[in-house]
Amino acid sequence: MNRLIERFLRYVKIDTQSDHDSGTHPSTEKQKNLSRLLETELKALGLPAFTDDYGYVYAKIEKNTEGAPAIGFVAHVDTSPDAPGAGVNPRIIKNYDGSVITLNEKLSMGPALYPSLKRVIGQDIIVTDGNTLLGADDKCGVAEIMELAEYFVANPKEKHGDIFICFTPDEEIGEGADHFNYDYFKADFAYTADGSEVGGIEYENFNAASAVVSFVGKSIHPGTAKNKMINALHLAMEFHSLLPVFKNPAYTEKYEGFNHLTGLTGEVEKATSKYIIRNHDMEKFTTQKNEFETIKDYMNARYGYEAVILTVKDTYYNMYEIIKNHMHIIDLAEQAIKNVGVTPFFEAIRGGTDGARLTYQGLLCPNLGTGGYQFHGRLEFASIQQMENAVNIFIEIVKLAAR
Ligand SMILES: [Zn+2]
Repeated sequence: MNRLIERFLRYVKIDTQSDHDSGTHPSTEKQKNLSRLLETELKALGLPAFTDDYGYVYAKIEKNTEGAPAIGFVAHVDTSPDAPGAGVNPRIIKNYDGSVITLNEKLSMGPALYPSLKRVIGQDIIVTDGNTLLGADDKCGVAEIMELAEYFVANPKEKHGDIFICFTPDEEIGEGADHFNYDYFKADFAYTADGSEVGGIEYENFNAASAVVSFVGKSIHPGTAKNKMINALHLAMEFHSLLPVFKNPAYTEKYEGFNHLTGLTGEVEKATSKYIIRNHDMEKFTTQKNEFETIKDYMNARYGYEAVILTVKDTYYNMYEIIKNHMHIIDLAEQAIKNVGVTPFFEAIRGGTDGARLTYQGLLCPNLGTGGYQFHGRLEFASIQQMENAVNIFIEIVKLAAR
């Protein structure tokens, strides 16, 4: 078995699930088990590496030529809290023939229901035993970046600028960029290795906001409520009914934005709705937020008191707004992908990424494919050939930039 896959299989067996609710940094101590292993392996390569208190691992490969940009590579050590992450027991299927794969007695998957399997026919794939996630997200990226490091250490004659490496904790709970050490990580730009199919380049993501809508009702005994009661739950339903019906995640795809009702609680006197608001396009994003304001104003005027209280907060923005002025880093990745014989493709992320947050904090950071699929569940899998290609792409990016 090759070293890349050996690495990957070693990393996925370490349970590194993050936790939305812990409130600590890292959110789970066990993520450091992988962080420390990576630090040890980087040090064994002779690289200065360290793990900080938050569980971030940093390393740098000193440049051996002048004039080349400093390039960073970032992946995350944690796995999603959405499916069991302990006791990962991976299995390799050689030369996958496109048939239904039985993961265990209860769980199987085939290309009819899961078309991503069609993308790996003829390739060697790594699947789970159906009881846990695989951790391809993002241990594919971690293993591939480790291979990149090993390559440049083993081939000192290859010219390159400074290469920075960072493995972050807590990406899956949206906190992977929270404690990023920019004083150490002085890359001119970076890539997150956290995408799916190899060849993919992602530099567009949603603009995102959250809205909390509070409804103030007027409670009175229902027997004597005529013309007096205002039921806060009805206000919440009325508010929702005034939102555009088809701007709902269940009706949208690609570049279509949405308002998503994530929570609704309350009683007669008081109710609260929670929404997330998403759109790739800044103008449309602003329009969607304004619609919330308009509905609030309309309802307050109609009821003659402050029946609706609205708080809208932006959470993150589309990195494209910044990357569009630095398209050379996209061109560089695209050329590198072509050079290793893979077809590049572009996809807009329907979500956020740590790369988007890093980009807004000043580190340009589009996302690259790693060869993993169907993230965050028991049906997760990875393609060995695609992972190998991802390593070649990352190496080629560094080499091309130094030419
Ligand atoms: Zn990920």
